[in-house]
Amino acid sequence: MTVKIEATTVNYKDGLALTGIAPVVRRFPLVPGIDFAGTVTASTHSDWKAGDKVVLNGWGVGRDPSRRCRARVNGDWLVPLPAGMTAENRHGGRHRRHATAMLAVMALERHGVTPAAGPAVVTGAAGGVGSVAIALLAGLGWQVIASTGRVAEADYLKGLGAAEIIDRAELAGPAKPLAKERWAAGVDSVGSHTLANVLSMTKYGGAIAACGLAQGMDLPGSVAPFILRGVALLGVDSVMAAKALRLEAWRRIGRDLDAGKLAGIARTIGFDEIEAAARDIVDGRIRGRVVVRM
Ligand code: NDP
Repeated sequence: MTVKIEATTVNYKDGLALTGIAPVVRRFPLVPGIDFAGTVTASTHSDWKAGDKVVLNGWGVGRDPSRRCRARVNGDWLVPLPAGMTAENRHGGRHRRHATAMLAVMALERHGVTPAAGPAVVTGAAGGVGSVAIALLAGLGWQVIASTGRVAEADYLKGLGAAEIIDRAELAGPAKPLAKERWAAGVDSVGSHTLANVLSMTKYGGAIAACGLAQGMDLPGSVAPFILRGVALLGVDSVMAAKALRLEAWRRIGRDLDAGKLAGIARTIGFDEIEAAARDIVDGRIRGRVVVRM
């Protein structure tokens, strides 16, 4: 497949790669960029023809030059751009973070946990995955508790649908094996002590979908929530997720995500602004997502 790229996004890992702050680049040369939306210009794949609007996220696309205007990729990696969305997406760069948040919500649903069981917590709430998760869960009827280090962003998070805001410092320290039950479900993009605390505060029979490591890759917790409260920890990966799951996730995004709520989520920048955006991301100065118009 050859795809003319119309938009891509800059995420935290791009920030680390572009600033060189952490050794996330394992192979040089590398052109960063983990997702794109665009139009097929040539295809030898039976699913696609020239003119099709497509989205790609994951599949190690960062190894290919997705920051250039064209990419040659495996057609199995692509999903159709949902009807009504543009590649640049004035509603807000619905790429990998959208898919990740949706896959997390679908994992909770598959587990059978529902809004009737209690609230849902979202950590890393002002981040890309967190913001989309809030909008999705609120739209599906959950009472959402948003955990953020940017309490000043409370109005933004409430606008997305959060009912309550908590300071992420409450969840940042070492967790007790079991703590007071506060929520029935959760989407965690933070990991480490935060995830351990989230699990320890999950109600009997609840479930937490883990999809990120913003605080750390460790999980310094106890098995107590699993064996004494039947809590489930559900892993979410958008990079290698099966095609059927991705297609379902994008269908659900088209159906369940309130585009209006997310209008403020994205900032669109030009190609020349990528480096500055990368610095802003690692310095915690970016809210929501950064869409790059190609
Ligand atoms: P963002 O940088 O947009 O958001 C991360 C958020 O985490 C921040 O906005 C902040 O939220 C919070 N955070 C950052 N540092 C810390 C810390 N030290 N302690 C506690 N909270 C912190 O990233 P994304 O939303 O794009 O991605 C979130 C995570 O999910 C990343 O780890 C990313 O690698 C992972 N990811 C996983 C995917 C998968 O397939 N499983 C796909 C996409 C991303 P706040 O300001 O509200 O406190």
